[in-house]
Amino acid sequence: MNLAHWINRASNAWPQNPAIGLGTEIIADYATLSDRVARLAGGMKNLTGLDRGDRVAIIMKNRPEYIEIMFAIWHAGLVAVPVNAKLHQREYSFILADCNARAVFHSPGINLDAPDHAICTPSIEYDQLLQSEPVIMVETEPDDLAWLFYTSGTTGTPKGAMLSHRNLLAMSLNYFADFDRIMPGHSIIHPAPLSHGAGLWMLPHICAGAVNVIPKSGGFDEAEIFELIDAWPHVSMFAAPTMVRRLTLHGDDRPLDNLKLIIYGGAPMYVADCQAALARFGPRLAQLYGQGESPMTITHLSREMIGNHHKLDSVGIPDACIEVKIVNQAGEPLGAGEKGEIICKGDTVMLGYWNNQPATAKALKNGWLHTGDIGHVDKDGFVFLTDRSKDLIISGGSNIYPREIEEVLLTMPGIAEIAVIGRPDPDWGEIAIAYVVLEDGASLDEAAMDAHCLNSLARFKRPKHYVIIDALPKSGYGKILKSRLREIDRNA
Ligand code: AMP
Repeated sequence: MNLAHWINRASNAWPQNPAIGLGTEIIADYATLSDRVARLAGGMKNLTGLDRGDRVAIIMKNRPEYIEIMFAIWHAGLVAVPVNAKLHQREYSFILADCNARAVFHSPGINLDAPDHAICTPSIEYDQLLQSEPVIMVETEPDDLAWLFYTSGTTGTPKGAMLSHRNLLAMSLNYFADFDRIMPGHSIIHPAPLSHGAGLWMLPHICAGAVNVIPKSGGFDEAEIFELIDAWPHVSMFAAPTMVRRLTLHGDDRPLDNLKLIIYGGAPMYVADCQAALARFGPRLAQLYGQGESPMTITHLSREMIGNHHKLDSVGIPDACIEVKIVNQAGEPLGAGEKGEIICKGDTVMLGYWNNQPATAKALKNGWLHTGDIGHVDKDGFVFLTDRSKDLIISGGSNIYPREIEEVLLTMPGIAEIAVIGRPDPDWGEIAIAYVVLEDGASLDEAAMDAHCLNSLARFKRPKHYVIIDALPKSGYGKILKSRLREIDRNA
């Protein structure tokens, strides 16, 4: 099984159907896409020294070529290494060296010296690769490596999660099982970086003969998203919670007839934000909980559950292709309501970390992926995610989950963003500190925020201090970097 087979299948079944959109324009149908993929794969094979299983990195902003490059890599029996184009040169150099990338497709402005082949996209050299003779797709095995995904590094040095063709196939089928039915002519907009797990949702859309739409800005812009929703039929998108919030707050009140589904995830969506989004978008929201090691797939809250306001503070139920358990530190399963580490097992779970046996042994035990997330399952089987294990604050012997405090403070008018961390303290072991970003023009003092917390939280959980900050440190994918925030706090 080679994932690239879906391009050939779509091209045979729906040759004239739109495959790729740029902004509001169709720029390739499936026959064209399939031809370009086979030629590009031919061009890659002609690059000297590129053999089956070699890693080919993509350090590109979102562009239509991204999609054909991914599929050409698979078509040629190679392994794609998606790298966020927003990373620092030091960070992407580390990744290229770690995976021994033999070729790199990159946006203009990316400085590279290491790999044998660096192809700027767009460029004359890229066009020349597309002039190559088309080649037949290489036959790969289900467990062959397809996508080497370096985790976003919110927790230390990036590690390459090895995802096979089977893993991505399971992820795609799970999309159909748990999120949505996709038909030919439906569409997905890609405002999040294609190097992120969300980029992989190009797969179920290609499998179903739908259109993958790249915004002209190459990223997320609220006004542009509303225009694209207006332009494309039956449109879906992945949006990080911060994007959903920005879309909700955007003043555009045009009708959303074309909008099928916004799936959010990757970071906590606070209940207040979800309710506001429901008021604007109607029952067209779903949630996923996943991680690079099991991309886009661990649990979900379906459109129907969210539409019925059902357990909005949870991450939903286990996905169809994966089992989920909560265990204690000894690895023993816990009962309903008991907090422990979330572990999961199924066909979307990675093969291991690239060249990193110690980290693999820590993350994978008897096939169970130890997510590092803390949570519990309620009596109805819904999973509640409390925090990442390292984010837990232990103050005076009591556990404080920052997420709980964040949920409460975010309901306070004037607060735009918040992150709560633990600060070492001689008396308490740790104390909770809230870093707060205020909405434009808002002013709040410590006493008001403390009073707000006292209304809904146990006394001992209240932050001991509040620090107003202009912006929170975020990863290239827009996730709040609590490790960096702890560093800032230490040095303050
Ligand atoms: P990454 O591997 O960089 O995509 O990060 C995955 C981590 O993001 C997970 O282990 C969770 O800690 C967090 N995460 C993913 N989805 C959600 C969600 N729906 N709600 C809260 N946190 C999430």
